Amino acid sequence: MKPAVLVVDMLEEFVRGRLKAKQAEDIVPRLARLLDAARRLGVPVIHVVDTHYPGIDAEFRLWGPHAVAGSPEARIVEELGPKEGDFVVNKRRYDGFVYTDLDLLLRELGVDTVIVTGIHTHICVQQTVMGAFYRGYRIIVPVDCVAAASEEWHRRGLEYMEEFAGAELVNSEELIKRLEHEKKSAITPV
Ligand code: ZN
Repeated sequence: MKPAVLVVDMLEEFVRGRLKAKQAEDIVPRLARLLDAARRLGVPVIHVVDTHYPGIDAEFRLWGPHAVAGSPEARIVEELGPKEGDFVVNKRRYDGFVYTDLDLLLRELGVDTVIVTGIHTHICVQQTVMGAFYRGYRIIVPVDCVAAASEEWHRRGLEYMEEFAGAELVNSEELIKRLEHEKKSAITPV
């Protein structure tokens, strides 16, 4: 497995702003731990974030103006980065693969498995998971590192990703142990 962690929309807008997810604050420390472990183990961390043009983006018809490029709301929350070595991919639709260079970046990194985190579980996380599925990636979703506006939407998002994208639903602590184990077993004696 050659994984990368995708961090979807962990922006001020969705964590503390008008479009915040209910449990967003709760997932920040767990996600911070997962990202630190990933960086330590050489697993790429890719922030995939809403960066809308003012006035014209189609999403504004549904949600009103949000995460406008250059605004304080479009900033990644401080606790999560971006830190040295992280990548940032800007998106203008729910799906992080649509009209972005995410797929090219993953291919150049040799990634075959995406660990998808962030918010909202049933909107941008789910759509990015589907985008990954369409392009042949294996998918892992740490359920304690994603959040939505309600428990119901969160649960429905998880069920959909498991059932229709074959996403493996895991706990972030177990996932960290697994990444550490994989790193160890990848080191072969000479
Ligand atoms: Zn948006």
